[in-house]
Amino acid sequence: MEIVTKQLQERPKIGDVISLPNGEEVRVRSVGLPWLLPPRVVCNDPKCPWHGHTSIRGEVLRGVVDSVYGNHAVVVHEWLHYVPKYKRYERRRKKIHAYLPRCVSVKVGEEVTIGETRPLSKATAFVVLGTSKDTTSIKPKMESI
Ligand SMILES: [Zn+2]
Repeated sequence: MEIVTKQLQERPKIGDVISLPNGEEVRVRSVGLPWLLPPRVVCNDPKCPWHGHTSIRGEVLRGVVDSVYGNHAVVVHEWLHYVPKYKRYERRRKKIHAYLPRCVSVKVGEEVTIGETRPLSKATAFVVLGTSKDTTSIKPKMESI
């Protein structure tokens, strides 16, 4: 199947149905993360979490893009791990291979959000959801009390 994309003037809302140049109609789905906005490009990639049928479950991580090749991105995730013996934190890092859907474009060095999915290929069980430009500042309701 050929993957078709369409660039939109404005960012679509979740639930919008957009028709692609090949006549196919694609609904923008919710990935379940209210602070992430859907991309401005629509695709018909079945492995896309926004326009296909890949669901995000498990971990949602942030990281920096290390390299991009084809429809894959290597994302470096860093976190702090507490070592009780020394009462200090150590820095840990991990390179994660993530699927890059056609509607999301990233550059090396950009901060991205990735979400865990079912295994999409032998070494890929994460998908790139968007960059730091695609986030909103939604605050939890608890904070206003
Ligand atoms: Zn897509």
